[in-house]
Amino acid sequence: MESIIITIDGASSTGKSSLAKAIAKHYGFKHIDSGAMYRALTLYAQDHNLLNDHKFDVDTLIDHLPTIDIDFTNADEITLNGKIIEDQVRSMEVSNKVSLVAKEPLFRQFMVAKQRQLGEKGNVVMDGRDIGSVVFPNATIKFFLEASMEVRTNRRYEELIEKGEQVSVEEVHANIAKRDHIDSSRDDSPLIIPENAIVLSNDKEGLTGLFNIATAEIDIHLR
Ligand code: C5P
Repeated sequence: MESIIITIDGASSTGKSSLAKAIAKHYGFKHIDSGAMYRALTLYAQDHNLLNDHKFDVDTLIDHLPTIDIDFTNADEITLNGKIIEDQVRSMEVSNKVSLVAKEPLFRQFMVAKQRQLGEKGNVVMDGRDIGSVVFPNATIKFFLEASMEVRTNRRYEELIEKGEQVSVEEVHANIAKRDHIDSSRDDSPLIIPENAIVLSNDKEGLTGLFNIATAEIDIHLR
């Protein structure tokens, strides 16, 4: 079988990672959540007192890059310098700052290089904002996932409550709206529908419907 790269892009909380996980499991592929990588770098900056509500020391974080190893376990869990940080990277604190980190071109270069390395062997499903447009413009098959603000806010709110975070629906809504703005208006690799991407909507389908549509498309390519 040829080496396959499947990309799923879209705004936050549209359900990209759930769909990517289901597809990866079905085909026995690796799932790379590129958003978790930007979140890992944000967590590092917060833990090293380089990023808080009052400051973002971009230059020092750039200096630290050679010492920062962001990777995934065999079970596709995100690691930062060898430590699994799946839960920490999903916190509201990280969500509130991650788009500031992700809009810096040097941090994007760092991530894109790592993402290409992770996808090198193929048989990968990678989700994010710029995966089909910038990281793997020649991917085997590209999806772009959309969902209404209401669906996205509820998804994210329920995820956070399940994890025991104290958040309000309003707070989650505001965070998603703010990230949408930064992610779509930044100069470097803004969120766009990649060329040749198949656009799917999470409003009409739900995960099972999306999975069925996506795997039918993928199966055509695998034939
Ligand atoms: O996908 P998730 O919502 O976890 O991504 C967190 C943030 O990381 C996004 O809001 C965006 O700022 C950034 N990101 C990005 N490019 C990607 C994936 C995520 O800029 N490929």
